[in-house]
Amino acid sequence: MKSILIAITLLPMALLSDAFAQQKSKIYLSGYTYSTKQKTIGEVKVSGNSKINNITIGGADAASFKISKNNILSVSKVNSDVQSLEITLTAKTSAGSQTAGFKIVNDQFIHNKVIAHRGAWKNTGASENSVSALQHAIDMGCEGAEFDVHMSADSALFIHHDDAIQGKDIEKTDAQTLAALKLANGENLPTLADYMQAGMKQNKTKLILEIKPSAISKERAIALTHKVMDAVRTLKAEAWVDYISFDYEVCLEIMKLAPYAKVAYLKGDKTPAELAAAHFYGLDYHYSALQKNPAWIKEARDNKLTINVWTVNDEAVMDWLIKENADFITTNEPELLLKKLKK
Ligand code: MG
Repeated sequence: MKSILIAITLLPMALLSDAFAQQKSKIYLSGYTYSTKQKTIGEVKVSGNSKINNITIGGADAASFKISKNNILSVSKVNSDVQSLEITLTAKTSAGSQTAGFKIVNDQFIHNKVIAHRGAWKNTGASENSVSALQHAIDMGCEGAEFDVHMSADSALFIHHDDAIQGKDIEKTDAQTLAALKLANGENLPTLADYMQAGMKQNKTKLILEIKPSAISKERAIALTHKVMDAVRTLKAEAWVDYISFDYEVCLEIMKLAPYAKVAYLKGDKTPAELAAAHFYGLDYHYSALQKNPAWIKEARDNKLTINVWTVNDEAVMDWLIKENADFITTNEPELLLKKLKK
């Protein structure tokens, strides 16, 4: 009996650890876009320490791509009418071989600073954080549409601002109940997949994904973060998504899971130098935090952080931030801000 047990425990160990390494290891890129001016997409990497010996490109649009000896992926010809291309990459490493699919996006993303806060809802009649609020933000040509993600009791992801909807605490309600809820504009409460799939039909407006802190536990916030990153990977949505959160540990976790993800911190209690040291892409602070610490604008620039500011609905504050050349301005009044920036 004892020897059988030893055989069962010892023999598969090598196989199990191999399988574990394969499961944990994944392919990712340092960039997911190209343009007529920028044919280099980025470096292909695998998580963990395994060295890539060889990469092959497959999938529908494989013929449009090439890979260099040092694993840099680039596009060989650009058709400006095409929004995105589909490929699979197979990386042979010392730990084995793995394959993943990607959407590589023609970078026609708009750069006009305007981030529609919870989509463009206030002047359009759409419910905030609805797919139609996203569609309005896209139609009016915003640089980004911001939205908030919560996790249900049974770990499904939904888009909503508050912790509760129609008296139901999202974290304590199951997905089936939440999916049946109607927003004021008649739409169902969107799942993350509903919302992202709508956003991925275009390549002009970015999706600014806020991961909400958990009112229950830090573990739940981290679990939500893993779910979000899994969903972005499954949808092949990397090119469209930038991340924000008030939860500092959530931000660090995003960067651990996706080292090239663009992450900005919302709470306003870290200096730009602190954020830069932790490899953030930017800060995304309430305007009062920058009014209180005006030197942070230069400090952010010196540290190569982007500056985003919320939630700027007041014209005088908009004018100040335009003058300061903030990279992004998050607002419930995207129409007004767009008009100001066109002047
Ligand atoms: Mg938000």
